[in-house]
Amino acid sequence: MSGLEGGCACGAVRYRLASPPMIVHCCHCTDCQTETGSAFVINAVIEAGRVTVIEGAPEAVMTPSASGKGQEILRCPACRVALWSHYGGSGRKSAFVRVGTLDTPAALPPDVHIYTRSRLPWVTLPPGAKAYDGYYADPGEVWTPDARLRWRAMLGG
Ligand SMILES: [Zn+2]
Ligand SMILES: [Zn+2]
Repeated sequence: MSGLEGGCACGAVRYRLASPPMIVHCCHCTDCQTETGSAFVINAVIEAGRVTVIEGAPEAVMTPSASGKGQEILRCPACRVALWSHYGGSGRKSAFVRVGTLDTPAALPPDVHIYTRSRLPWVTLPPGAKAYDGYYADPGEVWTPDARLRWRAMLGG
């Protein structure tokens, strides 16, 4: 299970993922650029119940989102590093875990690149990478059947 543990910069908050995520998004939208101060964010989308806090207590900070519904960003109360988000649509049932906070972020490469219309010009996507100008319209093109079952079970449960 190594590779699926992570934490903030100061070490006050540590977490573990109980399984691999349903999907990993690399988002190049301007909101993610602003929030991270970087070129994109890598989010592992997982059932919130599969994220176990093993040390500390992350604090929810309401942050505006493109949808207008806002998102809760869970941050370390000491160093304020963002660990995961709950977005408007699925709320607290899902967690969008910041892959860069894993001990080994290379364990979860992106399945899809989204909002590439605002991709910074010097970011080159790997050959053959799935990429969409905005958000993909058909999850069937991107999500595995198993992941889609997990998502439906999560919403129902
Ligand atoms: Zn911290
Ligand atoms: Zn984004």
